[in-house]
Amino acid sequence: MLNIAETQQLFAEKNIQFFLMSFVDLHGTPRAKLVPAECLEDVCDGAAGFAGFAVDGVGQGPHDPDLSCTPVADSTVFPLPWKPGMAWVAGNLKLDGEDWAYCPRTILSRAMADAKAQGFQFKVGVEPEFFLIDKKTDGSIGIADAGDTLAKPCYGQLSLLRNADFLTSVITYLNQLGYGVYQNDHEDANGQFEINWRYADALTTADRVSFFKFAVKALAEERGLCATFMPKPFANLTGNGSHMHLSLWDADGTDNLFLDKSDPLGLSSLALSFLAGILDHAKGLCALTAPSVNSYKRFGARSPRSGATWAPIYIAYGGNNRTMMVRVPAPGRMEYRTADGSSNPYLASAALLAAGLDGVKRGLRPADPRTGNLFLLSPKEAMAQGIDLLPANLGEALDELEKDDVLCTALGSAYAQTYLETKREEWDEYAEMVAKDVSSWELKRYLGL
Ligand code: ADP
Ligand code: MG
Ligand code: MG
Ligand code: MG
Ligand code: MG
Repeated sequence: MLNIAETQQLFAEKNIQFFLMSFVDLHGTPRAKLVPAECLEDVCDGAAGFAGFAVDGVGQGPHDPDLSCTPVADSTVFPLPWKPGMAWVAGNLKLDGEDWAYCPRTILSRAMADAKAQGFQFKVGVEPEFFLIDKKTDGSIGIADAGDTLAKPCYGQLSLLRNADFLTSVITYLNQLGYGVYQNDHEDANGQFEINWRYADALTTADRVSFFKFAVKALAEERGLCATFMPKPFANLTGNGSHMHLSLWDADGTDNLFLDKSDPLGLSSLALSFLAGILDHAKGLCALTAPSVNSYKRFGARSPRSGATWAPIYIAYGGNNRTMMVRVPAPGRMEYRTADGSSNPYLASAALLAAGLDGVKRGLRPADPRTGNLFLLSPKEAMAQGIDLLPANLGEALDELEKDDVLCTALGSAYAQTYLETKREEWDEYAEMVAKDVSSWELKRYLGL
């Protein structure tokens, strides 16, 4: 349970009058109740009730008793730096005081506890990319900054400066909350940015990613802008990745067990087995790390205007090479590049940890690292070299997840069922629309339009 006295003291120091008692649904979308600060103790006793059926993937019908969102010992508590008097508290869902199997934060906590029992702490650093866009009245979208028009916009200094007021205010707030932001850039698409902060244990990072997306969206709205983490909002521009950097440490988090300076990539034997586990479960993982219809338009896409998608297509790893699904940018960690902005950060981390630890348990070893520009390989050429492809769409990824017992066990079998059902509804709705819609491609091909 949250330390109530300490939190009350923090609330008093920061003059907090209200807090958002927050959890995420299956998609990672934050949900909350607005609670007066003096009711903290009641909320710790389970007083913040929610009708689970009103929220996607929480495993309840309309007739079921209320769930509560309850602060727990490791709950992140953030005073909102831009909204004096208001705080945010990350909670776990409970029913009658018991852990609820359909709570993403609980699922990651459980995965972390299992890893700890094996002597490991999982640390993760995430780079969630986002666009600042305008939603137009005709239903179309554009880049918010009209001056941001370079064909190769990555690291554009002028555009960075034009957007510096927004970026520096977000960064200042994040640092007030202890994020440890160390650099920021204009990304590879017009209107696209990335803010980089220090990695931490996977649960802390998932709370930070969740809060980051909320903060960026809220602060953009205050300026009349829209921030989106959608994987591929513009067909002709690079999409939003949310790369995840991974390492296993000893149980108290002081020793990086992935680091072996004598290895050519700087990875220990443990790290290589973990990596092999991720490669082995790569297809099913996509259902959790690239979990939307739109995700597959980010990887499968032809080169956008900037020249490269920077998103993987093939199940392969290599050194400091951004055409790989898993890149080893530096000794002692690996970067999983398949994750995108539509992923639920709690579920994505829980699944990656389970996949990696399965590789460790089975003593898997990866083949030699790949080299060269994999973006130049056609799928046929890749297959001929023994390189397998990622799922082509959400439907395929869900079929892979269903077959993957390790990932389904990590989610819990009841939650895995709910996850598959919820996401299949999304896929089926899209597939049906595509099947019935007459596209511009058809009009061009068959009518010469
Ligand atoms: P790049 O753009 O080269 O992929 P970034 O600097 O944008 O890299 O992001 C790197 C992320 O990796 C950061 O969140 C950083 O804190 C994190 N990171 C660094 N070392 C580790 C590690 N040992 N374990 C997990 N994450 C790490
Ligand atoms: Mg009511
Ligand atoms: Mg980066
Ligand atoms: Mg990036
Ligand atoms: Mg990266």
